[in-house]
Amino acid sequence: MGVDPQTLANNLAIIIGGVTLLLLGSVAIYSLWTGASIAIWLVQRRRAEKAFKTVSLRPDGKPYPPSMDGVCSRCKRGNRRIYFAGSGHELCPACYDSFWRDEERSDEIAKGEAKAASE
Ligand SMILES: [Zn+2]
Repeated sequence: MGVDPQTLANNLAIIIGGVTLLLLGSVAIYSLWTGASIAIWLVQRRRAEKAFKTVSLRPDGKPYPPSMDGVCSRCKRGNRRIYFAGSGHELCPACYDSFWRDEERSDEIAKGEAKAASE
């Protein structure tokens, strides 16, 4: 008994349709996976950049001075990160924070006085 041509056509259509769906599905999954890994990579990079900035830049955007293990010259406490702020100042992060803020303030005052003197 031969195969009914109509049944053969139907079966072929089902097989071709199934293969096409499978291909489309794998392409879709592949692009989703690639997109997801790019998104994850972007998020991780942004996080790393942010972490790097918090460690290497002060809140006002200026870079921190070089640092090393040592003892703070102001509060006399040891710290894994002691900043060499110049003029013999070796400061822990907490003391350096108030130090540069004070310095910034006196800089502004000095600028204001220079301006007042030139006027
Ligand atoms: Zn200190």
